[in-house]
Amino acid sequence: MRLIILGAPGVGKGTQAKKIASKFNIAHVSTGDILRTEISSGSMLGKKAEEFVHSGKLVPDEIILAMIKEEFRTDKFKNGFLMDGFPRTLEQAEKFSELLEELDLNLDKVINIVVDEKEIIKRISNRIICGECKKVFKLSDFKEDYDLACDICGSKLTRRKDDTEEVIKNRLEVYKAQTEPLVDFYKKKNLVENIDGLGTENEIFERISAHL
Ligand code: AMP
Repeated sequence: MRLIILGAPGVGKGTQAKKIASKFNIAHVSTGDILRTEISSGSMLGKKAEEFVHSGKLVPDEIILAMIKEEFRTDKFKNGFLMDGFPRTLEQAEKFSELLEELDLNLDKVINIVVDEKEIIKRISNRIICGECKKVFKLSDFKEDYDLACDICGSKLTRRKDDTEEVIKNRLEVYKAQTEPLVDFYKKKNLVENIDGLGTENEIFERISAHL
């Protein structure tokens, strides 16, 4: 199965992507996670991307497309994939279609998670992530700051640098201007399933699974 998951920042794409990838045993490719790992390791790619990521701007298409081509050189895509956070611009979507064509692969579905903006800001303000395995948690689920450890790998939970109110607003504007047009791009290819993103993680997962 070959999938893309779309939706504004904070709609729960990453959480659902992990569940889907694990249920169907397909590769989960999160460009945001790859970039954050590169930034914390201080690599060349990380240095190039850092300023964009921390201010909520998009990393230039050439950098992202080179990163994706590199990823697709590996054989982890044999069983299928779920792209999370990519493509994010029409240029990326067009180049991705070309790459898939070259590899003789087709997309099965584009899952578009829809949540209204007020709810998104509320959710992002409450989000913390594991610095190591990237699992996402809700700050309100913890009673004390010293409890902030990942239940999977034990690493420290932190707030993403781009999860401040100002940067969130910027990211939502960038999403509307640059990424939302992709919904129409894929609608024309008859690939889009709109999913209501309000409810518990499991409810949303059930809604998505019903289409797969
Ligand atoms: P995410 O974790 O998907 O919210 O991505 C975090 C940040 O990484 C974004 O705000 C961008 O700065 C950068 N980023 C992730 N994916 C892309 C992409 N496909 N194109 C450009 N920038 C990206």
